[in-house]
Amino acid sequence: MNLPELTEMMSALGQKPYRARQVFDALYKQRVTDVEEMTTLSVALRSELIEAGWLVGLPEMVQTATSIDGTERYLVRMADGETVETVWMPDGDGGERGDGSEAAVEEASETETAEEAVAGMKLTAGLSATSAKSADSGRDDKSFWDRRGNGRARSNFGTLAENGFRRATICISSQVGCAVNCQFCLTAKLGIKRNLTAGEIAGQVAAVLNRHNIQIGKDRINLVFMGMGEPFLNYDSFMKSVMLLVEGIGIPESRMTVSTSGILPGIEAFAKEAVRPKLALSLNASNDVVRERIMPITRKWDIAALLEAVQKIPLRTREWVTFEYVLLGGVNDQPEHAREVLELLAGMRAKVNLIVWNPGPGIDYVQPKPGDVAVFQRMLIEGGIATYIRRPRGRDIYAACGQLKRTISENGAEPKLVVIGAAAI
Ligand code: SAH
Ligand code: SF4
Repeated sequence: MNLPELTEMMSALGQKPYRARQVFDALYKQRVTDVEEMTTLSVALRSELIEAGWLVGLPEMVQTATSIDGTERYLVRMADGETVETVWMPDGDGGERGDGSEAAVEEASETETAEEAVAGMKLTAGLSATSAKSADSGRDDKSFWDRRGNGRARSNFGTLAENGFRRATICISSQVGCAVNCQFCLTAKLGIKRNLTAGEIAGQVAAVLNRHNIQIGKDRINLVFMGMGEPFLNYDSFMKSVMLLVEGIGIPESRMTVSTSGILPGIEAFAKEAVRPKLALSLNASNDVVRERIMPITRKWDIAALLEAVQKIPLRTREWVTFEYVLLGGVNDQPEHAREVLELLAGMRAKVNLIVWNPGPGIDYVQPKPGDVAVFQRMLIEGGIATYIRRPRGRDIYAACGQLKRTISENGAEPKLVVIGAAAI
């Protein structure tokens, strides 16, 4: 419930409006999990609320998997038993700016102009080429990723920073399953079960913050709406959750990014919002023919229509639109594709996050060759687009992009994570 709804509820109980504000703060600022914890309310009022049948609660974390890189993946159960996944990604100690992790990218973009970022990247592009070459000649994937970091050293990721200050990114789900059917994504295999409510979306954040004892204002939390589901197909609840997160929990919208597969009416509505996260568009292909094959939704809204809508979003100072591009070996990762991407994005305040495809069972793609990834990135940078390679997080626990999928055991009782395939990190 938001403040107007709580005000209405309190007035129905014959209470003054300031009581609604107290409940709002208890729910979202203090993140209480029980009516009895709302100690700003009188004992009598608390009893009245309980008697009237009001409940306070958070989604329940029924399972946790921890990655060697510090990423935690939670199976989160809603009141009706449906489950989604939420991911906690602790970031490094500030020495890893530009390493391709979402928070680091966001941070860089707050202090740099696109031109500065591209200039810095051009300087390091030479390094990238060298490491790609050695990776090609027999080194394993991990050393490749370790040594890339867009040319900067990676340090202590997955640990708490000194003096108790923490930086982390929380990846949240917006739907149970997804209806969009992208051919490379594991979540697509679930189909769509239902939308999450605004409370269930914001509740994932509150549950994770409580688990890690995060103090908003002291610790720095970034949010990405990039978990299960398509946020723009659950638009109203998604936007309502943004308001609860901003006004209630206290995370500024500038630290939030929503990713869409390209739902045109959603992008158009989003462009008109006064308070909104940053936008990431899952471009994933350089022309409609390839995109239609890997993202059938392209038949409904093609690349040109999506880019036109994106360009109508009034950007804030130093805001860029992010284009995500999942690299699928031999499908969309060749130099001709990079050239096409440059043509598509010419003149836009855009940056590109390259995501090396994360494998999943029953999905028939191959990962791109490290050398191809390096060439692709270099071509975009040389063409003037700030381009990062997103470091895969939690791949060993299937928490990386496109790997979120939960299953319920046969008897339907306890949700279980099925271990699918070997650790890929
Ligand atoms: N539904 C939204 C947000 C969730 S998916 C969207 O599609 O944008 C978040 C990102 O993960 C998207 O950019 C998507 O293209 C990418 N992704 C999906 N499956 C992937 C996989 N197997 N490997 C790497 N990235 C993947
Ligand atoms: Fe849905 Fe996004 Fe996966 Fe596509 S990539 S199926 S839109 S979650």
